[in-house]
Amino acid sequence: MVFNEVLKNLKNYEAGKPIELVVREYGIKDVIKLASNENPFGTSPLVKNALKNASNKAHLYPDDSYFELKEALSAKFSVTPKNLIIGSGSDQIIEFIAHVVLNEKNAILTAGITFAMYEIYASHLGAKTIKTPSQTHDLNQMLEIYKQNKDKIAAIFLCLPNNPLGECLDVSDVYAFMREISPDTLIVIDGAYNDFAKFKDAKKAIDPSDLIKNFKNAIFLGTFSKSYGLGGMRVGYGIADEFIINELAKLRAPFNITTLSLKSAIVALGDDDFVKKTFENNFEQMGVYERFCDEIGVSFIPSFTNFITIKFANSTQICDKLLKQGVILRNLASYGLDAVRITIGTPEQNEIVLNKLREILK
Ligand SMILES: *Cc1c(COP(=O)(O)O)cnc(C)c1O
Repeated sequence: MVFNEVLKNLKNYEAGKPIELVVREYGIKDVIKLASNENPFGTSPLVKNALKNASNKAHLYPDDSYFELKEALSAKFSVTPKNLIIGSGSDQIIEFIAHVVLNEKNAILTAGITFAMYEIYASHLGAKTIKTPSQTHDLNQMLEIYKQNKDKIAAIFLCLPNNPLGECLDVSDVYAFMREISPDTLIVIDGAYNDFAKFKDAKKAIDPSDLIKNFKNAIFLGTFSKSYGLGGMRVGYGIADEFIINELAKLRAPFNITTLSLKSAIVALGDDDFVKKTFENNFEQMGVYERFCDEIGVSFIPSFTNFITIKFANSTQICDKLLKQGVILRNLASYGLDAVRITIGTPEQNEIVLNKLREILK
């Protein structure tokens, strides 16, 4: 069989280990998973309730126009439904983006260490990924590289705040950078953690409506997987000028999210109390991790997300030991970094994890 050339160099995304694996391999029942930036409080009670009633619709395809969800998102972000595309997670929209602009002759530009899916989807199309020497987002370096490779770079991916490092930039700096970029280059702002940044420091939060008014070549990506607690439902969205949305929409298969996912997302948007509780717990508990780092003398990256990246010299050993004790964290060794990414959990989960860490580091 002759497989596509590009497959030769492809690597798979390493997802966070599932709870089921730890249960199977180590026979531990109470597993704590703080590895994939899921919501530690689960899903909004309103969504859980709606799902009970929605189960009698499971045999029906969803409304493929996603009318109600688009209305709700339009109202939330002050855009029109025509500015929106819905994906099976925002991951799927990254995939659509790759298909509409990339090929074996061009490239994307990203930060040195950022969300791995940009490079993976680019590689599916045979496109190159050019990264800044800086691990975190350095807009001066990006601009420099952009100017030298202008003909080649078809898209720039900014992950703000950045996963897996947690840093963020001021919107004014991002806009100043974007003004230097040709309108022919697509600029993707992956805002998976934008609402966490907004809660912590408003000047770092992108306003999608403002973004697309000012930049016709920009797309904002959002997800229900993090603050809204719907990782298992797979719903994400893209916000951009209509001319970009229309191209992306050509790649979207009908019914690309499920009837239950659609219902969950609509209801989740109406539960402000749940997300507020999520943000409050997140940054209060982030402080607990920061104080732990100061106490034991390890450094961390100040984070605008729902995780904290701690620079442990022996991250692989630490993660392995914790795994055997039923705690799943994200080792960043595969990113070439001696660091561990920990999703901020509930106070109870964090206390257990920190106690185990103290024990291991002794
Ligand atoms: C979680 C995440 C996403 C998308 O998640 P989906 O579950 O596919 O919506 C996208 N980008 C970043 C940086 C993320 O951390």
